Amino acid sequence: MLHTKKLLTLGASSLLSLSLLSSCFISVGTRGSTVYQQERQVSHAMSPTLGGKLFSSAWIQRSAEYKALCQQAYNIATERLLAATSRPLAPGEKRWAIVTDIDETMVDNTANSVYQALRGEDYVQASWDKWCDQADAVALQGAVDFFRRADALGVDIYYISNRNELNRAGTMRNLRALGFPQIDDSHFMLKDKTSDKTARRNKVLETHNILMLLGDNLGDFDHFFDIHDEAVRDQGVMRFAEEFGRRFIVLPNPNYGTWEPAMNGGYIGLTEKDQKLVTKLRTQRK
Ligand SMILES: [Mg+2]
Repeated sequence: MLHTKKLLTLGASSLLSLSLLSSCFISVGTRGSTVYQQERQVSHAMSPTLGGKLFSSAWIQRSAEYKALCQQAYNIATERLLAATSRPLAPGEKRWAIVTDIDETMVDNTANSVYQALRGEDYVQASWDKWCDQADAVALQGAVDFFRRADALGVDIYYISNRNELNRAGTMRNLRALGFPQIDDSHFMLKDKTSDKTARRNKVLETHNILMLLGDNLGDFDHFFDIHDEAVRDQGVMRFAEEFGRRFIVLPNPNYGTWEPAMNGGYIGLTEKDQKLVTKLRTQRK
């Protein structure tokens, strides 16, 4: 597989042993293969940023708490779904739609994060594209059941993702294999020119009432949160406080998101990011 070809396969389980994280096993690259990271590559992962990616990936892959949080989000979404569909639509009333993000909302991509971190890389587009084409992401706890239930209740699902057109075929193959419904071009709205999802949400609103939105990044709900300013984003949480757990269903993602450039003053290189992170941590400890 693309994400494991340079690594040494050890056995049949899908676990990776890291000397960096003793007693910790996390998946890298793909399900169904076991890989061992070469020593020379492990040293790269000692950067604060990349070490953080490994730790947060371990939490996502290994903790029951993460699974419970995902299930909790989907339980709340299900309650909202059942309440809204408990009465028939009035004549002329628009159909219900659910708008959902894909990554870290429906599927877990930490195997790719670990793969990149162990190579000494932060986010790399080419690696991401290969990962998407590999179609190996796994579903979050509760996600498949929820979307299948919505589909059975006649609700239209719009997958609004900032994956790009290059990723379309692999993404659809991956989601179909996991059992998600309505995986067709008319329900897929990928990134074109902008990562701002407002225009795509408005397109859905032309024909539907949006029952709820699901996402791991607050920009999945409103463009207000796309700003790279921590204080303003915090203010947004207060501004939209009534929406969370109601119209906005938030999934946990400690691995990446707009909070990262907001914390670092934009999308910056790994070295600069590490320096800022260390400085910030030292300052906070004083
Ligand atoms: Mg996402």
